Amino acid sequence: MTSLKRFAPYYGLLAPYKVAFFVAILCGLLYAVASGLGFPYVVKENIPVIFANSGEFSIEQREAAYAIIDQAPVNEDSKLLIDRVSTATGLDKKGAEVLIDKKPVDWQPKTKDESLLTKTLLLLPLTIFIRAIAGFFNVYLTAYCGVKVLEQVRGQVFSRLQDLPVSYFQNQNKGDLISRLMVDCNLVKQCIVEVSNSLIREPFTFLAALGFLVWLSVTHQENLFLLFCLAAIPVCVLPIRYIGKKLTRRAKQLQAQSGTVTEVASENLGAVREVRAFSLEDSEREKFGHAVSKFLKYQLGVVKYDKSLSPVIELITGMAITGAIYVAYNSQLNLRVDEVIALFLALHMCYQPIKKMGAINNTLKRGVASLDRIEEVLKAPIIVEEKPDAKPLPEPVRGQLRFNNVSFQYTTDKDHPVLRGIDCTLEPGKTYALVGPSGAGKSTFINLVMRFYDPTTGSILLDGHDLRDLGLKDLRNQIALVPQDPVLFNDTIMANIRLSRPDASKGDIFRAAQQANAREFIENEPDGFDTLVGDRGTRLSGGQKQRIAIARAFLRNSPLLILDEASSALDSESESLVQAELDSLMQGKTVLMIAHRFATLKLADEILVFDQGRISARGNHARLMDSSPIYRKLYEKQEL
Ligand code: ATP
Repeated sequence: MTSLKRFAPYYGLLAPYKVAFFVAILCGLLYAVASGLGFPYVVKENIPVIFANSGEFSIEQREAAYAIIDQAPVNEDSKLLIDRVSTATGLDKKGAEVLIDKKPVDWQPKTKDESLLTKTLLLLPLTIFIRAIAGFFNVYLTAYCGVKVLEQVRGQVFSRLQDLPVSYFQNQNKGDLISRLMVDCNLVKQCIVEVSNSLIREPFTFLAALGFLVWLSVTHQENLFLLFCLAAIPVCVLPIRYIGKKLTRRAKQLQAQSGTVTEVASENLGAVREVRAFSLEDSEREKFGHAVSKFLKYQLGVVKYDKSLSPVIELITGMAITGAIYVAYNSQLNLRVDEVIALFLALHMCYQPIKKMGAINNTLKRGVASLDRIEEVLKAPIIVEEKPDAKPLPEPVRGQLRFNNVSFQYTTDKDHPVLRGIDCTLEPGKTYALVGPSGAGKSTFINLVMRFYDPTTGSILLDGHDLRDLGLKDLRNQIALVPQDPVLFNDTIMANIRLSRPDASKGDIFRAAQQANAREFIENEPDGFDTLVGDRGTRLSGGQKQRIAIARAFLRNSPLLILDEASSALDSESESLVQAELDSLMQGKTVLMIAHRFATLKLADEILVFDQGRISARGNHARLMDSSPIYRKLYEKQEL
C-alpha cells in the first residue's frame, strides 16, 4: 500500500471533521463485526433450532426411537431393534431402519422450548439491525467527511490557480485544468476518505470472520479442513498487484484524455460564431468524435482491469472451496450441517474483504494518477511572487514609471528577447501613446507594468519603488485597465462595473456609467443596472461592453490608466462622446495607451515608437514624422 503514503500529507484535511470520521470508523468496525462474526454465528445458532422439528420424522418418533436405541444392549440383534422401534413409533420397518441410521452422535432430546426459539430467532433481525444502522452511519458520515474534504481540495487547487502567473495559463489546456479541478479532485477525495474508511473496515471484517473460523475449528477439530480454503488468500495478492499496475497507466491516460474532451467542447462552445462563419461544423464534429473515441478506449481499458479483479478472486476462492469439499468428502468426516453452513458463510465473509481490498487498490492507483495531476497545479512555481515583506506604496501615489534597462523574453530563448534594454521615464499626469508594428512589444511593455511578468533583466520603478518590492494587489489597485476586448462576468451590469471598486455605492456606479456615456443604454435595458449580461457579456454589443469597461476605469479612478485602443469598438458618434469622457478620465493620471489610429494619438502628450523590442523614437507627431522613418511608414500605411 505504498500508494496510500502519497496521500499522507493530505490527511490533515480531515482534522476539522475528526469526530465525524472517528464515529464513521467505529460504525465501520461494528458493521465489520456484525458481518464477519455476527452472521456466521447467527446461522450456526439458528439452524439446529429451525431444523429441530423438521424432516421426515416427528420429534416424538425420534424421542421414542432414540430412547430405545440408547437403552438397547450392545449386542442386540438389529432386526429386533428395528421391530421394537417400528412398534414404538408406528413407522414401517423401512422407516424405522432409516430413523436408526440417521441418529446423530450428539443428539439431545429437544423439547419445544418457545423461549429458546424466540431468543435464537431474534438474533437474526438484531444482527441485521445493528449491521444496517452501523452500515448506514458508516457510509453517511464517510460521505459527509468526503464532501468536506472535496471542498477543501478543490478550494486549494482553485486558489492556486488564482495565484499562478498569466504565463502558466498560456502553456495549459483550459479543459484539462477544468478536468483536474472536477474529476481529479473527486478521485483524490475518494482516496483520502472512502478508501481510508474501507482500509479499516474491510480488514476488520476479514479478521472477525477469520476469528470465527479459527474458533469453530479449534472447538470442533473436524472443521479444520476448511481452513485449507484460506490458503487461497495469499494467491489473491498476485492478481491484485498485476491488475493494479496495469490500471495506473490506463488511469493517467484516461484522466488526461478527459481534459482533452472538455477542452474541445469548451473551445467549440466558446467559438459558436467562428465555427458557423468558417463552416467548421463537420471538422469540429470529427475533432470531438476523435477525442471522445480515444477517451472511451482508455475508459474501456480502465473498466477491463477494474472489473476483472472481482471474477478472478471469485474464481480462486471458488476453486479453494471446491478443493475443501473434495478433501472433506474423501476424509469421511463427521460434519454437522449447522457448522458447515456457518463456516462457509464465514469463509465468504473472509473473501469479500479481499475482493474489496483489490478494488480499493485499483481506486488508489487511479487516485495516485489524479493526485499527480493535481500536484502539478499545486506545486507549479509562482514566478511572479509577492515578497513576504512586500511594502505598501506610500500615499499619495504620483504615478511616475521608470524602466531601468529592462529586457524580457517569454521563453528561455535568450537570443530572442521581446523587449531589449528599455530605458525610459514616464512622468506622472502625462499621456503616452505606444505605437509600432505588430509584434514590436507594446502589449509586453504593458504586461510588465501590470506585473503579469517580471523583467528578465533590469527593473521597473513606480514612484521610485521597484515593482517587485510592492504587494501585488497594492500595485494593481493603482492601475485601471481598459482592454480592447473587455471580458464581462455572467452577472448584472451593476456587479460588472462594481468589480473595479467593491466598496463603491450605487451612486458612484451611476456616476461612473454616466461619465462613460453608458447610462442611457443601461437604463434602456429591461432590468436597467440589474440586467444580466450573459456568459462573458454575450448579451451586450462590443461597444456596450467597452463602455462598461470605461465605466470601471472611471469608478476605480487610479493614478495609472492603461487603454488598449479603448474606443476602437465604438461607433463614430459614441467615440467622439467617449473621447471627451476619456479626456476627462485621463486628467491627472499617467496614461499608457496602445494606439492603432491617428485619432487616438491626438490625446497623447508624447508618442513612444516601438520597434523590435526597443523604443526607437519618442516625441510628438510632427517631430516623429521628421525624425522616425518607422513612424512615418506606419502613418502613411495607416497602421496606427
Ligand atoms: P500587436 O500590435 O500585434 O498587438 P505588440 O507590439 O503588442 O503586437 P506583443 O504582443 O508585445 O506585440 O508581442 C511581442 C512579441 O512577443 C511577439 O513576437 C510575440 O510573438 C511574442 N509573444 C507575445 N506573447 C507571448 C507569449 N505569451 N509567449 C511567447 N511569446 C509571446
